[in-house]
Amino acid sequence: MPFLDLAGRVSEIRERISAATARGGHGQQVTIVAVTKTHGADAVEAAFAAGITDVGENRVQEALRKMPEVTAPVRWHLIGHLQRNKVKSLKGFALLHSLDSARLANAVAAYGTESGSRMPVLVQVNVSGETSKGGYEMSEIEREAARLRTVEGLDVRGVMTIAPEGASERELRAVFAGARSAYAALVTAGHQATELSMGMSGDFEVAVEEGATMVRLGTILLGARDA
Ligand SMILES: *Cc1c(COP(=O)(O)O)cnc(C)c1O
Repeated sequence: MPFLDLAGRVSEIRERISAATARGGHGQQVTIVAVTKTHGADAVEAAFAAGITDVGENRVQEALRKMPEVTAPVRWHLIGHLQRNKVKSLKGFALLHSLDSARLANAVAAYGTESGSRMPVLVQVNVSGETSKGGYEMSEIEREAARLRTVEGLDVRGVMTIAPEGASERELRAVFAGARSAYAALVTAGHQATELSMGMSGDFEVAVEEGATMVRLGTILLGARDA
């Protein structure tokens, strides 16, 4: 049976998050974003039944296919790269985690302005500098934070980062602390930023200790993915 005892797993993870919050001392609230990529609409329904209200998808097309099949009133998060010519697809999403370049920022801002609102976004930061990863370089953040204050149509809510796979705990802490400093730069520039999206199945406890307010959990909640 698929997604057996998901509620039990969610409550175990919530306990681990509470313990990590206490260890880290940042005192933040943490939202679990269940990453439902490669799974069907049934996974979204099962997550909602287990008390999850936020789901993440990394591919726009896949998410748009799933949305009409889901009746649960979840908030959809886009956590993967968005092509500039697809910004209209943001319509069904509550938050874009992967604002990864100035050109995409301008395209999303134009979409926001056109739709008469400001699109909620997180600035994705490539803290580790891996070439395979998307996101702003740390050295760009301060200037971009200031520039984004002058761009209409965007609501910059915080920062997202992805830690390198197989990183040691020390490396993880350095990456997550880097994201936290990028977040501080947004606040300093005057953005109403409150979110720090970091931590996945293998590293969410360290991320929470370092101040994560959103953890993006796939495998640990829903099991292995086919693709
Ligand atoms: C797939 C994915 C996740 C979830 O990964 P797990 O290791 O399965 O928890 C989180 N964030 C992003 C950006 C992803 O693409």
